[in-house]
Amino acid sequence: MNDMAQPTAAAQPMWQSVIDGVDRPARDNRQFAVTNPATGEEIARVADCSPSDAEAAIEVAHTALPAWRARTAADRGAILRRWYELMIADEDRLARLITAEMGKPLAEALGEVRYGAGYLKWYAEEAERIYGEIIPAPVDGAKAFVTREPVGVCAAITPWNFPNAMLMRKVAPALAAGCTMVAKPAEDTPLSALAAAQLALEAGVPAGVFNVVPCSRPTEVGAALTESTVVRKLSFTGSTEVGRRLLADCAGTVKRVSMELGGNAPFIVFDDADIDAAIDGAMASKYRNAGQTCVCANRFYVQRGIHDRFCERLAERVAALKVGDGAAEGTEVGPLINQAALDKVVRLLDDATSRGARLVTGGAALGGRFFEPTVLTDVAPGSAIVTEEIFGPVAPIIPFDTENEVIAAANDTPFGLAAYCYTRDLGRAWRMSDALEYGMVGLNEGIISAVSAPFGGVKQSGMGREGSRHGIEDYLEMKYIRMGGLSA
Ligand code: NAP
Repeated sequence: MNDMAQPTAAAQPMWQSVIDGVDRPARDNRQFAVTNPATGEEIARVADCSPSDAEAAIEVAHTALPAWRARTAADRGAILRRWYELMIADEDRLARLITAEMGKPLAEALGEVRYGAGYLKWYAEEAERIYGEIIPAPVDGAKAFVTREPVGVCAAITPWNFPNAMLMRKVAPALAAGCTMVAKPAEDTPLSALAAAQLALEAGVPAGVFNVVPCSRPTEVGAALTESTVVRKLSFTGSTEVGRRLLADCAGTVKRVSMELGGNAPFIVFDDADIDAAIDGAMASKYRNAGQTCVCANRFYVQRGIHDRFCERLAERVAALKVGDGAAEGTEVGPLINQAALDKVVRLLDDATSRGARLVTGGAALGGRFFEPTVLTDVAPGSAIVTEEIFGPVAPIIPFDTENEVIAAANDTPFGLAAYCYTRDLGRAWRMSDALEYGMVGLNEGIISAVSAPFGGVKQSGMGREGSRHGIEDYLEMKYIRMGGLSA
């Protein structure tokens, strides 16, 4: 491990849960280890919360709710704004923490902290824009109104690939709306969530309003959250498989749910595209975070006239990528999160090559959790590498001839999160964005996430939107009020 990662591990080797504003060990005193995926080294031990700890957190979130929701929106906004400022002031430490626990290059980790903090700033401002309605009275002598109220106690379950940002885009709108929250971060990456909770307290978020229960027993602790009648909403980001199960678990108590699930993004390049822009977009969309993002290009469709040139140019750029410990200077691609992730990439690649796919560059496991950035061509449509989420630095490329053919291929998936399309034909750009069955479309852009834009998917990629002015809606209930007897 190099100099950048050491201080993080040494600075706080033992982390507890944050419940009611206090660092607490698990009630049964269990702990689990967090390891650096680049080195395999243990970097911290963390309280391993049980369902009983989660129930305690739900209880304090319930107790804290009346006072928090009663504060003015301006007050809540001011506290979120302070939290944002503290996060930005501490961005280097927080970025090192992300790199140490999940492996992404430090520059990307810093980008994630700024992106995550951006949700605090955005919703600090949105808190004051939660408007009601006045409805023209339907009968004489009456008035009719709609007010917006916080949903109540919310639960959040978040993944490891953006351990800061995926949580911030839930907690920021929740707290802005006047809700309180219990969050369960991923087992591989609990430190970013705990560090964020410590800064929240420093910023003035009252005890009990935001609680974090790290654990190695997601099913049991998840059940405590989904079965609780006090928790009125669950916001989940993770795989479609787990999301489906949590949806069923929430049915028992008829909870509000937001689901940000898996994707299978097509990246389409037409003959008329600006090839330099398409290559830049492909590099950013595919190889960022070692290919471990839900909006990563998962399969490339390149029109036949530009196909060979695109493959060759992409392969040149990919072969030059520097793979290594994310904390080391100049690293562009870090390790995969765990052995299971690496095994999946190897399985998908073996399957594709056994069906005739050809390696243009890469293809090798590099030891530890590292995998060589790879470009694969002549991929048979229907290969597992095209139908499943790869979550690794591998670009499978399939040639196509016509617009209709590529639209059919792009939509032939149960997922519908993000899609990308490169063309300089304005009519085609609009036809494609209309035809693609996705929640988000990048036209001549490989990176589209922004705090100000609604992030989310259709089909089995989820329900609800995070970020933008719409992201707070999921944390608000409408109340219709009718007042009668006003006639003289
Ligand atoms: P995951 O396995 O579904 O885990 C996500 C979270 O759910 C983790 O906190 C995990 O805890 C927890 N979990 C697992 N099983 C559970 C259960 N039975 N009950 C309650 N909680 C449970 O997904 P992941 O591997 O961390 O993340 C990668 C996936 O997330 C990909 O499919 C990716 O596309 C998706 N994702 C989607 C978005 C989006 O906005 N649409 C953003 C980022 C990622 P443990 O860590 O302890 O297993």
